[in-house]
Amino acid sequence: MAKNDIITIEQLQEKASTYLSEDDVAFIMRAYTYAEEAHRDQYRKSGEAYIIHPIQVAGILVDLKMDPVTVAGGFLHDVVEDTEITLEEIEEQFNKEVAMLVDGVTKLGKIKYKSKEAQQAENHRKMFVAMAKDIRVILIKLADRLHNMRTLKFLPPEKQRIKANETIEIFAPLAHRLGISAIKWELEDISLRYLNPQQYYRIVQLMKQKREQRESYIDEVIQEVNKQLEEINIEAEISGRPKHLYSIYQKMIKQNKQFNEIYDLLAVRILVNSIKDCYAVLGIIHTCWKPMPGRFKDYIAMPKQNLYQSLHTTVIGPKGDPLEVQIRTKEMHEIAEYGIAAHWAYKEGKQLNRDKKSFEEKLTWFREILEWQNETHDAEEFVESLKVDLFSDMVYVFTPKGDVIELPSGSVPLDFAYRIHTEIGNQTIGAKINGKMEPLDYKLKNGDIIEVLTSKHSYGPSQDWLKITQTSQAKNKIRQFFKKQRREENVAKGKDLVEKEIRAFDIEPKEALTEENLKRVYERFNFVSEEDLYAAVGYQGITAALVATRLTEKIRQSRQKEEDLAKTLEGTKTEYKEFKKHKKDSGVIVEGIDNLLVRLSKCCNPVPGDEIIGYITKGRGVSVHRTDCPNVQTEEARERHLHVEWEEDQTQKQYHVDLEISGYDRRGLLNEVLQAVNESKTNITHVNGRSDRNKMAVIQITILIHNTNHLRKIVERIKQIKDVYAVTRTLQ
Ligand code: MN
Repeated sequence: MAKNDIITIEQLQEKASTYLSEDDVAFIMRAYTYAEEAHRDQYRKSGEAYIIHPIQVAGILVDLKMDPVTVAGGFLHDVVEDTEITLEEIEEQFNKEVAMLVDGVTKLGKIKYKSKEAQQAENHRKMFVAMAKDIRVILIKLADRLHNMRTLKFLPPEKQRIKANETIEIFAPLAHRLGISAIKWELEDISLRYLNPQQYYRIVQLMKQKREQRESYIDEVIQEVNKQLEEINIEAEISGRPKHLYSIYQKMIKQNKQFNEIYDLLAVRILVNSIKDCYAVLGIIHTCWKPMPGRFKDYIAMPKQNLYQSLHTTVIGPKGDPLEVQIRTKEMHEIAEYGIAAHWAYKEGKQLNRDKKSFEEKLTWFREILEWQNETHDAEEFVESLKVDLFSDMVYVFTPKGDVIELPSGSVPLDFAYRIHTEIGNQTIGAKINGKMEPLDYKLKNGDIIEVLTSKHSYGPSQDWLKITQTSQAKNKIRQFFKKQRREENVAKGKDLVEKEIRAFDIEPKEALTEENLKRVYERFNFVSEEDLYAAVGYQGITAALVATRLTEKIRQSRQKEEDLAKTLEGTKTEYKEFKKHKKDSGVIVEGIDNLLVRLSKCCNPVPGDEIIGYITKGRGVSVHRTDCPNVQTEEARERHLHVEWEEDQTQKQYHVDLEISGYDRRGLLNEVLQAVNESKTNITHVNGRSDRNKMAVIQITILIHNTNHLRKIVERIKQIKDVYAVTRTLQ
């Protein structure tokens, strides 16, 4: 990209003709003429005619070989903001797409904001949202910003600093995440010049001093590599890699290094024709010069999220200095320079259809981040959270299967879990990092292999998770979880799900959803209304299948003969009679049969409200289990299942439940848990606490409760305790 030369409209037209059809060129020239008329009599701070700016912006887009709609958008990008022309007129004169792109880069007008910052944040939010709909919005915005930065010297110093700051905080990282390094580096270098002129000119000076020495050194390396490659007949383009001032500056500041300690001051790039050649060249480099340990990175096998692919290595070069080498194919290089723009690039009048599907998939992360904008009304908060996700450094970690996951640095295992799947996130109870248990607020490091431990019995996220997670994706899902616990939104969804499940039994919902039947069922689950029942289904506090099973059981019973039940009972009935005298009050009714010994199983400790199943034991009566208890899931056990249900009035009885609470081990945690249980007038029969070397505390308690409603309240109360990560109902 030509940096300082101004492109004329004639030059632009000529460049565009190299890759656009005649009609397309006519289309963009019409956009130029329209913009030229609209901006006539307007001038920039530099004193130039205003139209120079849109021409440069469109010119940058032509350099990126963008499609005609985007280039037209470049010409027209300031028309709506700075002239009397409206979006409707743009749509009429051109088309919907062009108008949409122009709208995306047009700042929000008229509305008054409480501060300049708030207004700017709103503008950014608007741009991000438009960008999620069509990525070309941001390509125009980046081209616009690039030209504005190139001409920043005409603005007053204070504005220079504001623009440079915004560029370094938002636009350069955005270009980076979209893989458009050609624009990213220029934005960064110009910003540095205004943000820290002293350092900027010092680095320029240092670079100059040793330039000759460096260049001859690089030449020597290039010659040596060329000689080697000729021998094995590999065609390659080798060049010294241009240095970017900002990356040198960052290394000097962040890593506190001296100028001459920075490795990639000496760097070469090797472009070849195939992936096979990339690895062949790498082999040769490593044979010629000794590789430095820990510096080899294979972004071909594991591309970055911004689509970047390349091999990186650092070797001890011919003169004993570290030498950075990048090896990639020409196509990879194009994507390394132009990133996402390369996917929009046109060639011979057609859009290059470069694996569009995988390209769209790679953008889903971005769309997911933006989902959060529906949740927050505060644009400043929105932009701040975007900055964390988009713009912080990344860590690369692995799934146990070896897939790479890219996360913002500072991410914890929960961020990873939510990136894999929402359910995995919600059911997380712990994490193994490189095979070792670590607390949930462990900060992930590059190369960590993460195994998330989940439990179906987990009660889901704690409030603390919002504090320890880093990504807005995770925070978003956690918030959604809490939101789902709010009733109203879930009633409709729950009703829908229940009706679907009823139909799965081949029963018309109307038939099952009678007032009487609904009342019977919601009362059995300890709800006070049918809305409550539906809401619980909606937030998955209870499954639709279970509710539907209950709602249809009478209908199904009358439809089906209970042959199996009868048969099973026939053989065992006599056994039970002996135990008649032991019958105790379990609170469970075995339908159709009296005088059975019924006991609640110790393995899963069912409580009223749990879905239960009877199990006919050999000689010990009926044991009652939760239906999800693994002990009654076997094929063999299924044959001995027996329909049982809770007695209607349960208020007087108490049942054992085991809970496991894990969290950060701090003084007072156990006490607070016990206090929380006490406050809800619940008896504790057993307590056990331990903690490990990683400051993870695990507290096991057994409590006496009346029903699942009661249990849910206690669990909610415990989850609100600071530093509690997870509460799980355990099986013994
Ligand atoms: Mn502009």
